[in-house]
Amino acid sequence: MKTITLFPGREKLALNRHPWVFSGAIARLEGQPASGEVVSVQTAEGKFVAYGQFNATSKIRLRLMEWNQGSEVDELWYRQRLEEAWALRQSLVARTSAMRVFYSESDGIPGLIADLFGPYLVVQFLTSGADRLRELITALYSRLVPGLKGIVEKSDGDGRRMEGLPEVKGLLWGEAPAGVEIVEHGAKFALDLSSQKTGFYTDQRDNRALVSPFFAGRSVLDAFTFTGGFAVHALKSGASSVSLLDSSADALALAQSNLALNGFGPAEAFEGDAFQVLRDLKKQGRTWGAIVLDPPKLASSRDHVEKALRGYKDLNLQALKLVDSGGFLASFSCSGLVDHNAFREMIAFAAKDSGRRVDVVRQLHQAPCHPIRTSFPESEYLKGVLLRVL
Ligand code: SAH
Repeated sequence: MKTITLFPGREKLALNRHPWVFSGAIARLEGQPASGEVVSVQTAEGKFVAYGQFNATSKIRLRLMEWNQGSEVDELWYRQRLEEAWALRQSLVARTSAMRVFYSESDGIPGLIADLFGPYLVVQFLTSGADRLRELITALYSRLVPGLKGIVEKSDGDGRRMEGLPEVKGLLWGEAPAGVEIVEHGAKFALDLSSQKTGFYTDQRDNRALVSPFFAGRSVLDAFTFTGGFAVHALKSGASSVSLLDSSADALALAQSNLALNGFGPAEAFEGDAFQVLRDLKKQGRTWGAIVLDPPKLASSRDHVEKALRGYKDLNLQALKLVDSGGFLASFSCSGLVDHNAFREMIAFAAKDSGRRVDVVRQLHQAPCHPIRTSFPESEYLKGVLLRVL
């Protein structure tokens, strides 16, 4: 195994088990490891730090995986990581048949994401280190998950692009998914796993169940509805009506079909840019008893955080203007770069500008199938609040 030496003092984060080592921390390479190769990392004094994935092109030059010098990163090691991750998810089986069964660094293998939708597994290999594991991971999962029918790969996204890896899609094992239906907290959702989009956001599972009881008897606007997750749960909890908002006609169609699947009639739908649609609705004098705001990631790099916060504030302010007195706003951000404090401050500014009294009645987080590793704060990304608006 090739060895990589860090500059003096640059081992601190790594020794605290943060998995990322940036290119600027690296003093010396012994040999020239290939992208994705597992290497041994040492301090300037030659003391062992960890084993990790090397990447020749990414600014994140090393992704550390194993801090115990005695543990070899071999097939058994990977199997143990998959089994540990799988064991954590067993407590969720009663609540859902859709869950993230492997969440990258948080579960110990950087770049590996695996989502289970009923009997099908969708895997992503997002780093060059993970990209080398395609056959091994496929074989291990085909044996680990009882009743599994197929494993499909959907390796796309920014991570791969930054590492110079092409998009890869296709069937890895078993049969191609067709007509997949999942159940989440008693609600049914039909998924199109062959579509471009991610099948379903399991990180919002518990938030849908936590906020919907507050919506009973109220009209609900589900903004950024995608598969209609919040809308379906709102109606199941006794909301008087739901309205859907999304910029994608496909998403609105998907949400409508999921309402039908659960026995509900078609909902009023607004297709367009939420920033504009919310303003138009205000002009029309519309209001709702509850609103859900679940925008896509608005901050994709540190340089975009301020602009993203202005975007979030604008959305929340526009939404607050549409909530009936005594109503609710469930507001989310899935930008990892916008931390909890910045998010709460943004909410406070939007509340102040709205002239309403706004109280947080629930803090909301990513579901437990997206664990947050304490040594890796970057694994926490989804945050939300349920607000009561007077
Ligand atoms: N609330 C959903 C997830 C939302 S994903 C759930 O519970 O699963 C984000 C959605 O926002 C996508 O469906 C996307 O089509 C939509 N979207 C992205 N930009 C938008 C915009 N500017 N205005 C309205 N919708 C937008």
